[in-house]
Amino acid sequence: MPLSVRVLRRFIATHGGAPCPNPPCQHRFLSFPEAELPDLQVRLRDTGFAFTSRVDDECGKWGVGEVVASPLGHLWLEAILPTDLAGHPFLKELTPAQREFLARYPRIDVIRFAPLVSVRGR
Ligand SMILES: [Zn+2]
Repeated sequence: MPLSVRVLRRFIATHGGAPCPNPPCQHRFLSFPEAELPDLQVRLRDTGFAFTSRVDDECGKWGVGEVVASPLGHLWLEAILPTDLAGHPFLKELTPAQREFLARYPRIDVIRFAPLVSVRGR
């Protein structure tokens, strides 16, 4: 787990992510690069969902419908699309660096996720 529970709780408190619906939390922890968190938080707030690309040992690791803990609060994994870079649904929106990174992997899981409780309007 890349973030301590203390850091996670503080992030949730300051960013409005959904708390654990069934404490004490035993949900698996989905981590994100710290640099992506502000943008993801805005997307969750504005649209109610966001996407993340997973590669390597995180492919096949997560389940559709699974509830996970994360730095963004508790998330609901709505859909998972196994693909490769050429089939990536947001190929045009990826930065050159992201594209270069993802090109190294034959399989990419694109996960659509939403806050377990909508943060819209907070
Ligand atoms: Zn939990």
